Amino acid sequence: MLSEIGYLLRQDPEERFRAKAFAAASWSIAISKPDLDALHRTNQLTSIEGVGEGIAKVLAGLIETGASSYLDRLRTEMGQPARDDESDLDLSRYQGDVHSHTNWSDGKATMLQIAQGAQALGYRYLGVTDHSPRIKVVHGLDAERLLAQSREMAEVQAQVEDVTLLQGIEVDILEDGALDLPDAVLELLDVVIASPHVKLRQEAAAMTERMLRAVSNPHVDVVGHPTGRRPGAREGASYDFEAVFKEAARHNVALEIDCDPARMDLSPEMARLALECGCNFTLDADAHEPAELAYVPMAAWMARRAGIPEDRILNWRTLEDLTITLQRHG
Ligand SMILES: [Zn+2]
Ligand SMILES: [Zn+2]
Repeated sequence: MLSEIGYLLRQDPEERFRAKAFAAASWSIAISKPDLDALHRTNQLTSIEGVGEGIAKVLAGLIETGASSYLDRLRTEMGQPARDDESDLDLSRYQGDVHSHTNWSDGKATMLQIAQGAQALGYRYLGVTDHSPRIKVVHGLDAERLLAQSREMAEVQAQVEDVTLLQGIEVDILEDGALDLPDAVLELLDVVIASPHVKLRQEAAAMTERMLRAVSNPHVDVVGHPTGRRPGAREGASYDFEAVFKEAARHNVALEIDCDPARMDLSPEMARLALECGCNFTLDADAHEPAELAYVPMAAWMARRAGIPEDRILNWRTLEDLTITLQRHG
């Protein structure tokens, strides 16, 4: 709820500092998991990092009633529809994240460190999905470096036995909808996330063709942050969402809700449309360091608000079921 408050406040440029404060507070709580009831009883909520008097008051209301009149008011002011069909997601059954980065591309931690982060959270699997070659600034991986990475993965796997590492790629969707790595490479990987990163302002018809082609590639498992938006900073791509989502559903390609607070993409509204189009989803942190794995609980409200049930989100599947889903795409 704190994260949703921060998200809604971001739509008002005058509230951007308060938006940051709420996002930071939810981030701090997601990582440190303090005993909120105990702190509330002893009047010590402000001892939590990032929680000042104002946020403590909202938090106290949440702890006492499970609801927030402040959030209710914001939802009304921001024109958010009332929903009586939000879904229940039990995060204790979240099995693993399929989108993460390491220092093989632009991640800030080693593969071992992020794998240990996933292990500490009790994950059963972690997709290691660094960038593809086109993104030169982040040192994207070509076939040769992917092979080298697979050797390191075998070594890391031996040290974190509880978490199964899935070797993947976050492959760039090129301007014409082709992917930034040949099929012969993609088919060797456990998980392929195809993401739009550049030329997001393409004209809608061309962007639609681009996305339709990407979701039709037989190796693509997930579309990463499907619009490329950055709430409060950059509008995402615009295309015929319904056509693309329906095509993704037809090809069993999941759509991502990227939980990175800078992205939060798909939005709850768009995710709801995708749900109606028959799509499955992933709920991923897109973590670039272990602490960022905590983005998932911060953003799970988005999937709830979109009404997405657990059986439509791949991260609730066991490793065995997930593997079957992923192998359908080779
Ligand atoms: Zn990305
Ligand atoms: Zn990513």
